[in-house]
Amino acid sequence: MKVSPVEELFTVFNQTALVIQEELECSFLEALAETGENLFQGSILQEELSELTVKRLKKHYEEIQINKYSNEEIRKAYQLVILKGMQENVQPNHQMTPDSIGMLIGYLVQKFGVQPSMRLLDPAIGTGNLLTTVLNHLQKEVVSIGVEVDDLLIRLAYINANLQQHPVELFNQDSLEPLFIDPVDVVIGDLPVGYYPNDVRAADYQLQAKEGHSYSHHLFIEQSVKHTKPGGYLFFLVPNTLFESDQAKGLHEFIKEHVIIQGFLQLPNSMFKNKSTAKSILVLQKKGEEVLPPKQALLVNLPSLSNAAEMDKILLKMDKWFQENKPKNR
Ligand code: SAM
Repeated sequence: MKVSPVEELFTVFNQTALVIQEELECSFLEALAETGENLFQGSILQEELSELTVKRLKKHYEEIQINKYSNEEIRKAYQLVILKGMQENVQPNHQMTPDSIGMLIGYLVQKFGVQPSMRLLDPAIGTGNLLTTVLNHLQKEVVSIGVEVDDLLIRLAYINANLQQHPVELFNQDSLEPLFIDPVDVVIGDLPVGYYPNDVRAADYQLQAKEGHSYSHHLFIEQSVKHTKPGGYLFFLVPNTLFESDQAKGLHEFIKEHVIIQGFLQLPNSMFKNKSTAKSILVLQKKGEEVLPPKQALLVNLPSLSNAAEMDKILLKMDKWFQENKPKNR
């Protein structure tokens, strides 16, 4: 039976990670980062490996030539093998952004307008799956920047970007600390949802909670807006209940003052474990000269993405909205 390119790559990522994991006694995802770096550099970098292990790895690496695969084949295989590794060690706020959501965000970024040499920031880059899905969709020259607090995830993002030959500037830090990043045209982010434990840091934000811990997703929105050029766009994956929470009043005020809501696209509940964890894509535009609000924001309830007929209808509706509300500052 013919094996697909994604399966071929998955097998090599998986088997070589297992070989390294066994010998270095590390986690599967740490071993995946090691094998990814070997594939990118074209040599075996772990000096502590035995001769026999080096031979086994070489044999696997010889089965593929990484630069023969498309970016999407590499991304999909890497995504599958990370998913396998994440099952070992499940952390809800570290979950990778699924393909379907990445593709929708890529579509929206394209529709709202991609400029030459656009600067794009993902302040919660995780494994880089969302960012590289969007970059592969845009197929334009984009300067991208990613920030991530978790050491292992940012290593996985670095390897993901290298294997797909996307130049990405990476910062391993808390995104809510000061960021030394020049203003960007576009922000994308699957935001970490929940309380931010550092009240001292949160006190620098307009969106800090009046009492107790602030919501980190609110602070991420404020930090992202701060680093966006006037007229730039922001695309966030947020809880459906974003505007109904106990801290929503402050968020409404912040939005009114600094940004325009361009769209709110509710994803189908079937994509999530339960209704309370369901999410939407929020599209904002930072205020600026000549930036005008749309006649009406793009409000969509997306059907199940596997329902092609319903999805086609929604895409037509969205196309019509873009024709009638063509962004004014592009
Ligand atoms: N889009 C990512 C991907 O495709 O892999 C997944 C993003 S995940 C839902 C949210 C990410 O935010 C996690 O990787 C988490 O480690 C990161 N994060 C949480 N708090 C953070 C902070 N204060 N600064 C930077 N990153 C943070």
